[in-house]
Amino acid sequence: MATYTVVLTDQVFPDVELERTMLSAIDAELVIPPGDHEAVMAVATDADAILNTYFPIGADDVARFRRVRIIARYGIGVDNLDVEAARAAGIHVTNVPDYSVEEVAVHTLTILLAALRRLPQAMGVAATGRWSIDPIRPIERISESTIGIIGLGRIGQRVAALLRPLGARIVGFDPYVNVSIDGVETVGSLEELLTVADVVTLHVPLTPETRGLMGAARLALMRPTAILVNTSRGGLIPTGDLVDALRAGVIGGAAVDVLEREGEDASDIAGMSNVILTPHMAYYSESALRESQRKATTQVIKVLRGDAPDYPVG
Ligand code: NAD
Repeated sequence: MATYTVVLTDQVFPDVELERTMLSAIDAELVIPPGDHEAVMAVATDADAILNTYFPIGADDVARFRRVRIIARYGIGVDNLDVEAARAAGIHVTNVPDYSVEEVAVHTLTILLAALRRLPQAMGVAATGRWSIDPIRPIERISESTIGIIGLGRIGQRVAALLRPLGARIVGFDPYVNVSIDGVETVGSLEELLTVADVVTLHVPLTPETRGLMGAARLALMRPTAILVNTSRGGLIPTGDLVDALRAGVIGGAAVDVLEREGEDASDIAGMSNVILTPHMAYYSESALRESQRKATTQVIKVLRGDAPDYPVG
């Protein structure tokens, strides 16, 4: 029997040989329990450490952990974890804040530009054999447009850096960031940003404060031609409000990688001609996956060995 048991609550990777190899060096066994939430928790209760992607761990679950010393999330956002409850129970929570900043920023730029250049509409026209820009008009020049970035953390700043060479005016809003960012005009309120921007892109974490941030009232402040981009978390935009706003022409279009109810909401919005929808893939590249696997597992090893983790949350 191994010295430690590490439970992987939800396996999203092609394989976990990297984790197994790294953990075996400290005589830790990786266990991946099959089944629903209760089945996983029944095994996780007696684990020494948890590796986690989307599996929700609430206060009730934390209370059942008998020996767990760390919950290591593979990703950046920790909205699926009750961080406070873990902290109160003396359990470390870690994330991997830097594994996919490049990927998310590049994906944001990709869907943002595709929406501005009306790619879904253009592909629809070309696919029917019609060879005309008439059904695609109007497209404005990007260097004459204003792009609003909400949340100027790691990803928001990287998005700004990628946008800068395109010559658009970039405005930003983040009540918690006081540094000046090259090429970004910070505005004093979210409302101001929403009224001036031709594109609004969200880069804030999902918290009780930001849940539903872009509900109907805020969508109504956007320009009727404006595009809303979300590669952050679906819970920032109530799907019903977004669909209503797109149908009624309250906003011009949307490009989203995340949905309020991931997967389930896709049928409500997929196929709309002014929507680009991708299946929560902004973080993905083969290198990013390997980096997140290596770094999350390193946090587990450090804590089980009695060392401080690199990426404590909270
Ligand atoms: P970060 O912590 O570096 O930056 C988040 C920024 O949001 C911070 O500067 C913070 O001050 C700001 N913020 C918080 N509340 C705000 C508010 N009410 N209004 C404006 N700004 C506010 O995080 P990051 O690395 O830039 O990541 C941002 C989010 O991207 C993550 O929380 C995660 O949910 C999401 N994400 C998505 C994917 C994906 O695949 N789609 C992958 C990685 C991360």
